[in-house]
Amino acid sequence: MQKLPLIFSCALFLSACGAKQASAEAAPEDPVVADVKFDADSAYAYVARQVAFGPRVPNTEAHRQCGEWLVSELRRHGAEVTEQRATLRAFDGTDLKALNIFGRYNPEAERRVLLLAHWDCRPWADQDPDPANHTRPVDGANDGASGVGVLLEVARQLSAAAPEQGVDILFVDAEDWGTEGDDQSWAMGARYFVENPPVKDYRPDHAILLDMVGGKEAVFCREYFSEQAAPALASTLWGIAASRGYGDLFLNRLGGAVTDDHVQLIAHGIPAVDIIEYHPESDSGFNSRWHTASDNMEGISAATLGAVGETLMDFLYRK
Ligand SMILES: [Zn+2]
Repeated sequence: MQKLPLIFSCALFLSACGAKQASAEAAPEDPVVADVKFDADSAYAYVARQVAFGPRVPNTEAHRQCGEWLVSELRRHGAEVTEQRATLRAFDGTDLKALNIFGRYNPEAERRVLLLAHWDCRPWADQDPDPANHTRPVDGANDGASGVGVLLEVARQLSAAAPEQGVDILFVDAEDWGTEGDDQSWAMGARYFVENPPVKDYRPDHAILLDMVGGKEAVFCREYFSEQAAPALASTLWGIAASRGYGDLFLNRLGGAVTDDHVQLIAHGIPAVDIIEYHPESDSGFNSRWHTASDNMEGISAATLGAVGETLMDFLYRK
């Protein structure tokens, strides 16, 4: 994903015109903190397992093997799984053999939420301080594997006790083969999914995207496009996090505008929120390991994965 260059003008515009900003009114819906099950160590192990395949760059053996494993894990946890395969032409002319993995729980339920994360890795560590790494792929422990790891643990918990509402879990491919300044070069798997939904007239009530949710010093601000498309959902999620004691991670303030998979959903009428590590004071907005050779397991914290996973599980089981 990339941060949009107009981020600061967006933020200024918001405050200048007095338009909607992340407000302090995100009170939890329910004062009683629900007892939810989410094993942070299991989520951590799921992240490590993906990284152990090697960088999951499209058209590589590590990518193929990890894709197979993700399908089998979702099936093992009781999801009804569709493998959506497509050849996607990247901005540089490369044909990417892409695989979106779509798992459904309680497929008959009308009320549905879509949870998603990208599972591919960036082919180039082009933000690395060492130029020699700019042509090498990233491990993607945080950028890719963390969101998928949390959702695999969610799937494991859902297999034990599915909530009333329908839950769909989507691992999208080809998010990170993009180039700066070309919005359409990112999130190709998500775009293919919304343009070719594997279920006729697929229309979840809303969607939650997890991206870079395992960082050791992570904070999550309310992302700009999410705030435009789904402010109530963002308020609910940030409120739940605060009620569970994670207000120091989920900062109730506006963050940047990030080109990510959720933008494709929003463009197709699905309100979506991106939970993504964001540091308003840093140049890139992202943490210092982003798109570098250091995006490895050393940067991953089970505690951060747990805070995000618990928040998500609490949301899924609310009436
Ligand atoms: Zn990325």
